[in-house]
Formats: sequence, structure tokens, C-alpha cells
Amino acid sequence: MATIFSHPAVPLAAAVALGSGVIPRRLMEFGLLCSILPDLDVLAFNFGIPYGAVMGHRGFTHSVLFAVLVALTFRYGSSMGRERPWTTLLFLFGATISHGVLDAMTNGGLGVGFMTPFTTQRYFLPARWIEVSPIGVSFFSLRGWMVIKSELLTVWMPCLVVALLGYSLRSHARKVRRREGE
Ligand SMILES: [Zn+2]
Repeated sequence: MATIFSHPAVPLAAAVALGSGVIPRRLMEFGLLCSILPDLDVLAFNFGIPYGAVMGHRGFTHSVLFAVLVALTFRYGSSMGRERPWTTLLFLFGATISHGVLDAMTNGGLGVGFMTPFTTQRYFLPARWIEVSPIGVSFFSLRGWMVIKSELLTVWMPCLVVALLGYSLRSHARKVRRREGE
């Protein structure tokens, strides 16, 4: 996995880039939650479920189907997204599946079961730039520091660029609108 600290970077960047008019604060908070939810499956190890099984680590909870179910559950199980149902569904789906996408860019572990339970095949993306975070690694060790450094460069930096770019474009558009209104 990438670490629990880095998965929320993706929905956070998307929310900053799109602005609170599109992604309200509450939706953003749910998005952050969705981005770490898939790693609940590490509990599977406690029940003796093998890594490569459907319910094993990086299996069902990292799949497209799980992301769809999470988005539908949060959308229809709460008052979120009455005004913008599709934006809400897409944002929550994107936040959840982004977890698997980041994991599929790590250089270790088994791949990600995007198509679970329809197949137990595990996948990696062609670009595997992220240093894998071994389960239970101490962040105060040399290995822990290497993982954090790798995630700063390969996850946080690109997310920061996207967030700043979106924010700048929005504030530029706002200024243009204001000028035209004068
Ligand atoms: Zn994961």
C-alpha cells in the first residue's frame, strides 16, 4: 500500500482544484474517508484470509465494484448530493478507486484486484514509481523515511500541482467575470 497519509491527497487535490462550489466541505470529508477505506482489508490477515484471496488485502475492497457500492451507499445513505447527484457519485467513486490506483503504482506486494470478485487476477499499472509501504513499517526507520520521501515526490507533488493549477484557473476566471461585470 501507499501509506494512509498519502491516499487522501488525491480527493483533497481534486476538491481544492474544483472549489467548494462543486465539492462542498462535507463531500470532501467523505472523499477523504473513502480514500482510506479500502485498507480496512488489512484486518483480513487477523482472520487468516490469504493475501491473494477475494477478501484478501488489495482484493475486493480495492475493486471497481467496491468503489461503486461505496459511492452509492454514501450518496443515498446521507443527505449529500441532492443538488449535484452525479458530481457526488463521481467524486466518491473517484476518491475510493484512487486508492487502488495508487496501490497499483507501488513497487511491491501483490497487485490490485480491480476486477474482484469477477476474477482474482491482480494488476499493477505500467508506472510503479511509489515505494511500497510494508504493513506495520515504522515511520521513524530508514525504510519509513524512504517511503515518505517517495510519496512526497510521486503523490503529494503532482497533487499539489493539480490543486494549485485548478485554484489559479478558478480565481483567474472569477477575476475575468468580475471585470466583465464592471
Ligand atoms: Zn490499499
